[in-house]
Amino acid sequence: MRNIYCSFFGHEFKITKHVTHYVKEFKCTQCNKQFTTDQSGNITALTPKHREINAVLEKIHHKKQKKKNLQLIP
Ligand SMILES: [Zn+2]
Repeated sequence: MRNIYCSFFGHEFKITKHVTHYVKEFKCTQCNKQFTTDQSGNITALTPKHREINAVLEKIHHKKQKKKNLQLIP
């Protein structure tokens, strides 16, 4: 169903997940539709494919973060 508010004012994004510094998942507080940042930095609908990519990105990102933290220890 099309949300009238969203078609007039656009979606009202709320960040639901920080995947990496650049990729985030969003949810519209008006129509509950889910979105994500794509490779070009645009906000696009969150498809199962995107969810998969984000899960991989998140894993890689967390691994990197761990490495970084270890390097900070003298
Ligand atoms: Zn919406």
